[in-house]
Amino acid sequence: MPRMDPRYGVLFEPVRIGPVTAPNRFYQVPHCTGIADRAPADVAAMREMKAMGGWGVVCTENIEISQDADISPYPALRFSSDADIARQARMADLVHKHGALAGAELAHMGLYSANRTSRRPSIGPSSRLLIEAIEPVQARAMDKSDIRTLRQDHRAAALRAKAAGFDIIYVYASHNLSIASHFLARRFNDRSDEYGGSLENRARLLRELLEDTKEAVGDRCAVALRFAVEEFLGPDGLTHDGEGAEVVELLKDLPDLWDVNLSDWSNDSQTARFSQEGYQEPFVRFVKQITGKPVVGVGRFTSPDTMVSQIRRGLLDFIGAARPSIADPFLPLKIAEGRIDDIRECIGCNICLSCENSFVPIRCTQNPTMMEEGRAGWHPEIMPARRSDDRVLIVGGGPAGLECALSLARRGHHVTLAEARDGFGGRVSREAALPGIAAWGRVRDYRLGQLVKLPNVELYPGSRMEVADILGFGAKRVVIATGATWRPAVMARDGRRGADLDIPVLTPDDIMDGLCPQGRILVHDTEGGYIGGLIAEKLQLSGASVTFSTPALTHSGFLSLTLEQDRVLRRLTGLGVALMAGRELSVGLNGRVQLVSVLGGDPLDCAVDHLVVVADRVPADRLSQQLLSDPANLAEAGIKSVDPVGDCVAPGLIAHAIYAAHRLARSF
Ligand code: ADP
Ligand code: SF4
Repeated sequence: MPRMDPRYGVLFEPVRIGPVTAPNRFYQVPHCTGIADRAPADVAAMREMKAMGGWGVVCTENIEISQDADISPYPALRFSSDADIARQARMADLVHKHGALAGAELAHMGLYSANRTSRRPSIGPSSRLLIEAIEPVQARAMDKSDIRTLRQDHRAAALRAKAAGFDIIYVYASHNLSIASHFLARRFNDRSDEYGGSLENRARLLRELLEDTKEAVGDRCAVALRFAVEEFLGPDGLTHDGEGAEVVELLKDLPDLWDVNLSDWSNDSQTARFSQEGYQEPFVRFVKQITGKPVVGVGRFTSPDTMVSQIRRGLLDFIGAARPSIADPFLPLKIAEGRIDDIRECIGCNICLSCENSFVPIRCTQNPTMMEEGRAGWHPEIMPARRSDDRVLIVGGGPAGLECALSLARRGHHVTLAEARDGFGGRVSREAALPGIAAWGRVRDYRLGQLVKLPNVELYPGSRMEVADILGFGAKRVVIATGATWRPAVMARDGRRGADLDIPVLTPDDIMDGLCPQGRILVHDTEGGYIGGLIAEKLQLSGASVTFSTPALTHSGFLSLTLEQDRVLRRLTGLGVALMAGRELSVGLNGRVQLVSVLGGDPLDCAVDHLVVVADRVPADRLSQQLLSDPANLAEAGIKSVDPVGDCVAPGLIAHAIYAAHRLARSF
């Protein structure tokens, strides 16, 4: 039986926060769910799972304090009337059942609250266009009575949070998404009264909200301040060595807890492509030198050694986590039980955020049970026992095959996993070798690491299976997880085909399999996901001169949902990649590549040596089709079922393949 490494003991010390005490240092900071009050029971079940998994503090997402704070169509919780108390109390109760504290993040999002449902005018420190508004509307400058109303609403919401049983009540001033942040920022605040001008004046509302909250609920609840110390806007914003630090100095011992991070959200939730574990340290490390109150910070922490180092070096008191707690709700318990290898580490892909940004329940690449705890009753660590003794053969060891094998093996089935290539991982292994996303290999490493420990699993790399091999294998159930390949032809999304070109046309598979063309290369992306930019980056880094084109009006549109689009395009232009948007691929009479503007005008002749087309993928469904087309053959071989799963059914994100495979394994 493994035991906890004593070095990690410090992570399990209780820590006092004002009038309450957290049982350990694992702190799930507020994070969105993509669904919020549309399914409060599902959200509560998900939060409960975190408490069960050992997180000492489990927080909500944004809770709107009033109808003025309406961020629809983005989902949020609500404490705008007493009727909301019972609904939010459910989560606090479930979290308490496991000995954790429950935190409630009260928020008025100011210039981000478009009030599209409540239809009230938006409010802000000064009259400004709303931030990222769907409609071109402006906020009304708040007068003194608006400020009074805001304070009363915040106070009332704090009392409701207390009545609902929450232990930690937040004042929110982060991510450029809070009215308190907007008052703090010179760029939004040109008031001439005592709420504008000097930093002390601009911080007045934040101070008042903290004082009001402490006065209202401070006898029983801790009051936390979630504050972004750095906005990366230079003198136009707060900086960790300028006004950000001055705010901490001004308010230093007023909150019971500082929850510090970076603004905006894309800076806070950076992906693995742009940051390493602990990336916030250089910006937030000063906070503990100023305040005597406990400090929580984040940084995609998944390694207990890094966590201990944060505590031992006096940088943080709590290890904050949103994404690592999504990828592995049982991370703390695994550390406590000495099962470090069992941690399912976040890969920093931000698929979870892409769901919030498109208003659907968050899904996680690594954790297929995320947001299925309530509605499907899925536990992230426990699979139901098998209902038969059927042996299972799984063909294809990409993410779908690996997940299916692991989940079925955990159910107790005898599982054989056959992979054609010499190594497992499929697309994950190939994609993780592209620049900056080595962490994505954790999808493979976690599953493979678990599979090799199980006695009822046989792994066969280097084993390409054909129909006859499968029929003769002797398994009762067969899962086909053979993936997909990038379409090897010039084909636009609308199905139009280019005629013969006089240059080689390559696919992302060619590049990921090691082909390294040189000279002038056009990477044309009609898919709009992450692969196009990664291929362009890899080729440019290897010495080619790359033009990256797309028929869309912006490149890599999907990455706006993962909060990476700007960064990716900045990186590519920084490397010297030429960007062309709004251009369809065509073929000139001379057989040369042309780019035709979707906005009209003459086609552009491109003198390039190679074309890489990032179009769509072709499902590798030959095996499943052949097997399923001959039921008599299957019956004769004693095969009860053949289930294709993952990209060989419908190519999608890695998260889709993992989810489909997990779901299939539960259905056996
Ligand atoms: P998914 O995302 O659905 O898991 P991948 O493309 O990542 O899809 O993985 C599919 C895997 O299946 C690849 O590693 C590929 O080598 C493997 N594969 C494809 N055909 C066969 C086959 N006939 N026998 C064994 N493995 C196969
Ligand atoms: Fe981490 Fe990706 Fe899961 Fe989000 S979706 S928690 S970034 S692994």
